[in-house]
Amino acid sequence: MDSSCSIIDSKASFSASTDIPLNKAIGITSTVPVEIIFAAGYIPIDLNNIFICDEDPYGMVENAETMGFPRNTCSWIKGIYTATKNVGIKRIIGVVQGDCSHTNALLEVFQSEGIEVIPFSYPHKGNRSLLEAQLVELAKTLGVEFYKAQEMKARLDKVRSIVHEIDRLTWEEGKVSGEANHYWNVSTSDMMGNYELYEQKAAEFLKNAINRQPKKLETLNSKLETQIRIGFIGVPPICTDLYVFLESLGTHVVFNEVQRQFSMPYPTETLTEQYTRYTYPYSIFGRLEDIKSEVKKRNICGVINYVQSFCFRNIQEKIIRANIGVPMLTLECDRPGRLDGAMKTRIEAFIEMLKG
Ligand code: SF4
Repeated sequence: MDSSCSIIDSKASFSASTDIPLNKAIGITSTVPVEIIFAAGYIPIDLNNIFICDEDPYGMVENAETMGFPRNTCSWIKGIYTATKNVGIKRIIGVVQGDCSHTNALLEVFQSEGIEVIPFSYPHKGNRSLLEAQLVELAKTLGVEFYKAQEMKARLDKVRSIVHEIDRLTWEEGKVSGEANHYWNVSTSDMMGNYELYEQKAAEFLKNAINRQPKKLETLNSKLETQIRIGFIGVPPICTDLYVFLESLGTHVVFNEVQRQFSMPYPTETLTEQYTRYTYPYSIFGRLEDIKSEVKKRNICGVINYVQSFCFRNIQEKIIRANIGVPMLTLECDRPGRLDGAMKTRIEAFIEMLKG
């Protein structure tokens, strides 16, 4: 387990296949309406988290290549494949619209190997009636009344509100590191498979964070700030030491874009509204609106745009760069592990430029 995963150490221990009742486990490869899964009495397992919190995520990618996955494929896909096999997951909810073609092909591989795949789509442009039909269909497939999932939304909203407060303490009070912010937000995708335990752990973390001293001179509008306030946008990073390295350069990551989206940051009344406002599966323009608004609100002076090698989202870089309004460094990584020397040099030069 890398040290970052120890922030949510229960997830790492949960990753041992023996801990998971497989007849109740449903693997997920991306954020899906977890309220429906919990309401139906199943345990959501985010396979991305199982992969990246493993002791040897690099070896998991290599294992998938040994099993026939091409080298020029996204490493998250290969890690998810090995994680699924290691844990012994038999059922997966797969996002067939609103994620990516790599995921679609991965789902086909799973089907060919006898794993049940339940399809879920985020309709183009977040069309409400089409999305609601998807939510109702998913509830029906899992054998739960849709109103029960709505009730579960109200319960999970309480859990999510703790993570929203952790996020606020990150950017407004400087009491939570960018790395801890990343982990609490990213793990809302499955809430460790146990939302009550997750709630308890998040509440403990929050209680400790509230009593911390804020980082020196770090106030939202201070001209004396010693730390550079930066944002992180794009899919969660596969490299393990990015946040630690950024902090060592005197920066404070006050915004984790996609991870924050996983936490469903907007107040909403219904599941349909919640997953319509979730920006990640829809067009880049919705994401941009959210990014620009948070960059302004959080007083961010520069942004790291993380892109995963071989991901289609890399093409959107030019749209983001043209519209974001603050300096941006695009950082591309392929495999899990530490940043290499060239990446570190580019990051250092970017931060020096921001300081200047
Ligand atoms: S990083 Fe890109 S290619 Fe990889 S799973 Fe995510 S969306 Fe697909």
